[in-house]
Amino acid sequence: MTTGFQGSLFGAPKGRFARVALDTPVRREFSYHVPESCEPLLPGSRVRVPFGRREGLGVVVAVEDFAPADVPPDRIRSLNGVLDVEPLLTPALLRLAHFIADTTYCSWGQALAAMLPAALRRDRPRRTIAVVELVTMPSTEDLQKLEQSFPKQAKALAYLLQAGGPMELREFRNRTGLTRSPLDTLERKGLVKFGHKKAFLDPFANVPLLRDKPPVLTAAQQHCVDRVLESVDARHHRDFLLFGITGSGKTEVYLHALERCLEQGRGAIVLVPEIALTPQTVSRFRARCGHVAVLHSGLTDAERHDQWVAIREGRLRVVVGARSALFAPMPDLGLIILDEEHESSFKQDSTPRYHARDVARERARLEDAVCVLGSATPSLESWASAHEEGGLVKLELRERVAGGKLPQIQIVDMRVQKPEKGKWLVMSQPLCTALGAALDRDERAILFLNQRGYAPAWHCRACGGSLHCKACDVALTYHRWRRKAICHYCMHEEDPPKTCPECKGPVDMVGVGTERAQESVERMFPKARLARMDRDTMLRRESYEEVLRAFGCGDFNVLLGTQMVAKGLDFPEVTLVGVLNADTALHHPDFRASERCFNLIAQVAGRAGRSDHGGKVVVQTWMPEHPALMAAKNHDYAGFAKEELIERKLFGFPPFGAALRISFEAEHRSRVEETSNAAARDLRAAAGGAAEIKILGPAAPPVEKIRGRIRRQILIRTSHSGLARIREVLYALCQKQGISVDSL
Ligand code: ADP
Ligand code: ZN
Repeated sequence: MTTGFQGSLFGAPKGRFARVALDTPVRREFSYHVPESCEPLLPGSRVRVPFGRREGLGVVVAVEDFAPADVPPDRIRSLNGVLDVEPLLTPALLRLAHFIADTTYCSWGQALAAMLPAALRRDRPRRTIAVVELVTMPSTEDLQKLEQSFPKQAKALAYLLQAGGPMELREFRNRTGLTRSPLDTLERKGLVKFGHKKAFLDPFANVPLLRDKPPVLTAAQQHCVDRVLESVDARHHRDFLLFGITGSGKTEVYLHALERCLEQGRGAIVLVPEIALTPQTVSRFRARCGHVAVLHSGLTDAERHDQWVAIREGRLRVVVGARSALFAPMPDLGLIILDEEHESSFKQDSTPRYHARDVARERARLEDAVCVLGSATPSLESWASAHEEGGLVKLELRERVAGGKLPQIQIVDMRVQKPEKGKWLVMSQPLCTALGAALDRDERAILFLNQRGYAPAWHCRACGGSLHCKACDVALTYHRWRRKAICHYCMHEEDPPKTCPECKGPVDMVGVGTERAQESVERMFPKARLARMDRDTMLRRESYEEVLRAFGCGDFNVLLGTQMVAKGLDFPEVTLVGVLNADTALHHPDFRASERCFNLIAQVAGRAGRSDHGGKVVVQTWMPEHPALMAAKNHDYAGFAKEELIERKLFGFPPFGAALRISFEAEHRSRVEETSNAAARDLRAAAGGAAEIKILGPAAPPVEKIRGRIRRQILIRTSHSGLARIREVLYALCQKQGISVDSL
């Protein structure tokens, strides 16, 4: 226990002491003696410390000249070493991490760990990315033989075949749920080979740096720019909401603010949803801001590390990236932009469970910077804040720059549509007519369906039972390319059932996934050159770019897919957008279901009619009278927001109160019941019967079992003052194993 102890054996140890935040759930920091060799030590540096019997990597959050009061002098250990000569994290980032820890229920160390790129959390960063690829095409016969005796090898081969090129090993593991061992066997058989790539073909490396001249701003744009620049020039913290319909020229406003920031020698961070982080987007920023750092998920640890250092040293002054780019150690930060601020991908769903919007505003506040949130369909949190004293400053762009009109939206009631005999209903009559007409005119179409695979469920005609995963409480999805029923949670797969496992009755495949939709469209429209875009066809990063390029130049005329086709695409030739099933967004029992549905329709509608050919959107639904759909049809965001906020206020949902979900999981039902019941008791005791704190549960969540672990949840709705009363209980819970606390 006294290894490294350097203080005097008599009385308080002398010298300097560091408080270190470690990446553990325990919400406290640890004190260490600072040996001479580690001086001069500053907060924000990474250090190696003895922790239990191991060595840990932590971040120094304070250095003090006196011994800590909370540790007996003979228990203080010394730092093992320091990794950074200059502190890696600025004081503002340290404070930001503290904010995240307190508001998202984790430890300071966990929040700090999330800020650092992986390469900086480890001692040995990976310099290359491991890939695996096919050497020879296996014959159908070989595949069938393998399938019978070595199903895992067959599965591995099927994925590599589908990928059509080298696949990242990490990606392979995520997608298939397989370990490396079937691949090793296949390598010995000479069927696959391993390799390394220095970087995963950086999609941004070859984007030309074309300087372009800014267009003359419209009066509306100029007004927005003026307001933002006022604050940028004054170097005062201020948060803006730029509310502008799709194609209204929001990006141009961002670019003007960025240019001013650079002129002042200050830095800026631009956040976009991961899916919108395309060469198209990046080249627009490069064209006007010169060399920008792009932080995307395809970087190797080493590359990410290099980018970070370049930013830290002030060599790169603009960062464009997804969620985590928010933590770029930019010195003298002047501006943070969050484009498409309503996107749910800005919320992280693992610890720390932060929302980039809240963190961006807090960072801007800490650094006296300007924050601009932009969207055509702002989150209701931002919308409400923009109508509140001292909240966001609202700026508005009401018209498309090019004068193009928003497309006409037609809602189709699927309850009265008849399927072809013996077929599942995929395309309604109005959508068929519209697609036929578009293809006849040689125009292009996007079809959106948020369900991959062939059919999402089975149904027994005799007993009404369905086919579920044994480890998870979810229906198995049939994937035709694999001829397997696959669990989307644990990747378990099995042969599709011929009869009901319960009663041996006949089974039907129920519902429509992208595979089935593709089959149907191709059968009905011989003129369609269709590209499908979902996780099963986009196994490699590059595939996404390849397909979009081919669609852009007309090799394909129909793009059918999941989320991947809904956001941010800008193809003037697209005149028709079809939403095959708008209800998938409404089915989740969640107070944001309506908001998500409205946003989705508004966003996909934004893909149509970007030229003078005009555009049309056909939305298929089984709930045509739903208010979110009616409002979307009329392009009436303000009306929708008003009604929805009234509802939220009535029930005390965000932004009028806090909503939290506490999740519990354990192997045994009795264990998870015990911990969740105890937590509910503690919470109710702390709430002391206050009416403003509503505690629901514990109850089974919609998916009760995942990977064999049983789950429970407690839902809390409370006023902000009520939250203060139960906060200590929440902090205690979030440190326990198998429990997570999430602000919704
Ligand atoms: P948003 O980000 O609001 O969807 P964009 O900034 O992408 O809109 O603008 C849509 C299109 O209009 C882009 O092709 C952009 O280059 C162009 N554009 C923007 N502002 C102007 C302007 N003032 N004059 C001419 N074209 C513009
Ligand atoms: Zn499963």
